[in-house]
Amino acid sequence: MLTTRPTGTNDFLPGESEKWQYIEQLCRQVCAEYGYKEIRLPIFEHTEVYLRSVGETSDIVEKEMYSFEDKGFRHMTLRPEGTAGTVRAFLENKLYADPQPTKLYYMGPMFRYDKPQAGRYRQFNQFGIEVFGADHAGIDAEVITLAVEIFRRLGLTGLSVKINTVGCADCRPKHMEELKTYFRQYEDKLCDTCRDRLERNPLRILDCKEDGCKEVCKGAPTTIEAACDNCSTHFNKLLEYLDAVGISYEIDTNLVRGLDYYVRTAFEVVINSVGSAQNALCGGGRYNGMVEQFGGDDMPGIGYAMGMERLLLTLKEQGIELPVSKHPEVYIAPLGEAAQKEAFVLTQALRGKGIYTEKDYLGKSLKAQMKAADRFQVAYTVIIGDSELEKGIAVVREMATGEQHEVALSQLVEDLEGRLK
Ligand code: ATP
Ligand code: MG
Repeated sequence: MLTTRPTGTNDFLPGESEKWQYIEQLCRQVCAEYGYKEIRLPIFEHTEVYLRSVGETSDIVEKEMYSFEDKGFRHMTLRPEGTAGTVRAFLENKLYADPQPTKLYYMGPMFRYDKPQAGRYRQFNQFGIEVFGADHAGIDAEVITLAVEIFRRLGLTGLSVKINTVGCADCRPKHMEELKTYFRQYEDKLCDTCRDRLERNPLRILDCKEDGCKEVCKGAPTTIEAACDNCSTHFNKLLEYLDAVGISYEIDTNLVRGLDYYVRTAFEVVINSVGSAQNALCGGGRYNGMVEQFGGDDMPGIGYAMGMERLLLTLKEQGIELPVSKHPEVYIAPLGEAAQKEAFVLTQALRGKGIYTEKDYLGKSLKAQMKAADRFQVAYTVIIGDSELEKGIAVVREMATGEQHEVALSQLVEDLEGRLK
């Protein structure tokens, strides 16, 4: 073999790809019910799209971007997430001129130079939604509800919604100063990355997974304590809306998310099982201010992204079988070269009627073909040998009962259509 696939990428083969289609279809269905329209964007953007929005101190910008210079010496980056590109497209295509809010969804591959492990890849897929032009806490509740609804319809259990309010331009600066003052006292207990973050973005320390840092964070001033009146009111209203539709959540004061752009609402849906190291199925929040950062007028925004690979792993862990297997309804078993051609014509005619039909192409014996028909779990097998061909008939075998009857070739399509009804 010449080479293998790049580290951190996956091949999804038949058997698995049907599950992807099922989940994608479900996401589309739920989006249709909620009024979210699909947006399809390039998988690479000018690098500044991410530098501007995702944030200098985020994992993505610090170490995970797949950036390259193209032949025209432009700095490009394979998209690490979907929000920044969506904001760029929202402005570029003047979607702000439409009646608001604008409710969008996307799905497709994202690229991050992450440390590959189960649930963490360098090419992975996200389904995500973004809403522009609505500041009301009710839309925050709708976004969270849409995430929960997909997981509910898939039959997942043991999930929890973690939620926090992370501050805004009014209250964050003061909170950042308080955090700096607090963390400076424990500088020697922080990991190297967090010591570096202390002056640049102390909020991110709250998100650190190192035990030492986690311990120090327990006493840190929380975003909820630091929230201004507007942030508090927004947060409380969001919680009321979630209560009103029976969505349970846990307030997690350390949840600040890895991207710098969030204001007010931040949330994640996590799996509670002990074994899963990568337990966040989706994450999102509000990003008021980002549209302005891209050069547009002030326009609120909120969204989330769900990791499809992690979702599939979780379905597997929970033993959930998706209803994806499709068997052909008819198997055509020709014996001999002359019958092969007749069988091919019949196969096409049945398919033309929307009947999923398989046939042999390998010139197998009758026994081997019947075995294949069994493996396909078809309802009917059609046997055509030389003597049948001479008489202008075929033998139709009902697989469940073993009953066989002869049907004129000219009547076969009609006959099977009738039986399959
Ligand atoms: P993490 O803390 O696990 O690195 P993140 O904060 O980087 O997550 P987001 O940028 O919010 O994640 O992406 C949303 C979702 O996309 C995650 O909850 C996860 O399900 C999925 N995801 C993120 N990075 C990866 C990856 N490298 N491989 C697979 N899925 C991923
Ligand atoms: Mg990450």
